[in-house]
Amino acid sequence: MKPHFGVDVDGVLAHHLPAMIEIVLELTGLSVSPDQVTDYYFAGLIARDQMEQVFTRCMERAMELPPMADYHLVNELPGAVTIVTHRPAEVAEQITKEWLHQHGIRYDGIVFTKGRKSETGRFDYFIDDAPLNALDLAASGATTYLMGWPYNRDSHFGEHDHRVVRVAGWQDVKSHLESIQAWPHRLS
Ligand SMILES: [Mg+2]
Repeated sequence: MKPHFGVDVDGVLAHHLPAMIEIVLELTGLSVSPDQVTDYYFAGLIARDQMEQVFTRCMERAMELPPMADYHLVNELPGAVTIVTHRPAEVAEQITKEWLHQHGIRYDGIVFTKGRKSETGRFDYFIDDAPLNALDLAASGATTYLMGWPYNRDSHFGEHDHRVVRVAGWQDVKSHLESIQAWPHRLS
C-alpha cells in the first residue's frame, strides 16, 4: 500500500516567520529577530492574546507568503499527500487553496482542523514545524519530520523522540526517505 504523508502549511510549505515578525512589529512596536523566537507562540516576547491577533493578521496576508525552499518536492513524495493545517477554515480555506494552486502544489486531500492532527487520519509520515503537533503525531506512530525553526530548536519529545526526524528543509526530507529506501529511484 502507498504510504500516507501528512503535510502542514505554515513553516513547512509557506515561509511564514518573517511575516509574523513584521506583524509583531506593527502591532506592538517590538522588534524581534528570528533567533529570539524560542517558542511557537512567541512566549516571553508578546502576550498570548496578542499572538492570536498576529495569527489573524498573518492570514489576511496569506497570499503573499513565499513558499519554502525546495517546496516542490512535496509533489514528488512517494505516496498520498494530505495537507493538514490548523489555519481556521472559516477565514483561511479559500485563500489556502488558492495559494497552494498558485504555487503548483498538488495534494490528495486537505483538512482544516482545530483538534489533534493525529485524529484526522492515519499517517505513515508527517511533516510539521510545531512542537505540539510533532509530539502528537510521533506519539500516534508516524515518522515525523520537524522542519527546523528557532522556535522548535529546544523541543524534546521524550519517549517519542526516536520518531521525530529533525530536518533543515525539504531536501533533508528527501534524503532521509532515500536513506530508509522509501524514496524510489527512477531511471531517467
Ligand atoms: Mg506549521
